[in-house]
Amino acid sequence: TDIRELLLSRIRDVADYPEPGVMFKDITPLLADPAAFTALTDALAGIAERTGATKVVGLEARGFILAAPVAVRAGLGFIPVRKAGKLPGATLSQAYDLEYGSAEIEVHAEDLRGEDRVLVVDDVLATGGTAEASLQLIRRAGAEVAGLAVLMELGFLGGRARLEPALTGAPLEAL
Ligand code: 5GP
Repeated sequence: TDIRELLLSRIRDVADYPEPGVMFKDITPLLADPAAFTALTDALAGIAERTGATKVVGLEARGFILAAPVAVRAGLGFIPVRKAGKLPGATLSQAYDLEYGSAEIEVHAEDLRGEDRVLVVDDVLATGGTAEASLQLIRRAGAEVAGLAVLMELGFLGGRARLEPALTGAPLEAL
């Protein structure tokens, strides 16, 4: 079967969530289907291998669910990028703007080094704000960005164009 069809068939549209006018892409049916979850993990692990990644970063919270099995499958370390205040050790943090207000993400400073090439994994790319902040965090830690891999890109929100400067030539792959 075509993997795109399989993955798309396991993503549920939920109207007016988390607020009126938003069509939320719910990935829980995909996670509950072992064939689809395995196909997704294998495809993302293939991207990790092709991009020469040495670490896999997952973005809280759904990015963790996808990135952890990818790291294991690819034989690489998993690094969590968390919302501010959740990591116990010394962190680097990056603030970014939301539609209303701002948010902040963090990584353990010791988890990323100069020789690392990092693949960032998340479920959905929307406006690109979260991913952009994570790429900035990785660069500020002194590591290189190997790429950004997502299950789904909401193209009409323009995230790809926004991310172009932060990617500095690294690939953005949306399955
Ligand atoms: P962005 O920063 O690109 O605007 O939003 C992306 C972040 O919000 C991702 O971490 C993603 O998990 C979450 N997100 C935004 N829209 C959706 C959606 O429709 N479905 C899911 N599953 N996550 C979303």
